[in-house]
Amino acid sequence: MLFLVGMDKKYELIEPLMTCHCQRCGEERQWSLYKETELASLFFITVWRFTPDYFLVCDVCQDMVKLSRVQGKQLVHMGSRDQKIHDEVEGLVIEHQTINDKS
Ligand SMILES: [Zn+2]
Repeated sequence: MLFLVGMDKKYELIEPLMTCHCQRCGEERQWSLYKETELASLFFITVWRFTPDYFLVCDVCQDMVKLSRVQGKQLVHMGSRDQKIHDEVEGLVIEHQTINDKS
């Protein structure tokens, strides 16, 4: 008997999320939050969803910053209105872009 097993990745746009400085663009930009879920399927039916990963993407240059799952969840539930999360994520973006510039 033949089993058709598949793995798939699904990207979901959560919302245009926050504005912060993008070093690549050199300007203040809007960043969107994407949720990436890996799915396992059997006979084209989803049988398992893996824990999702969260990415922040610059709307203009498409630079992608991976968030920790905890931060991703916090952003989904509370949004960047929470100043503490906003600052944390902004720090992460700066860190990501600084490391990339050096390499
Ligand atoms: Zn950008």
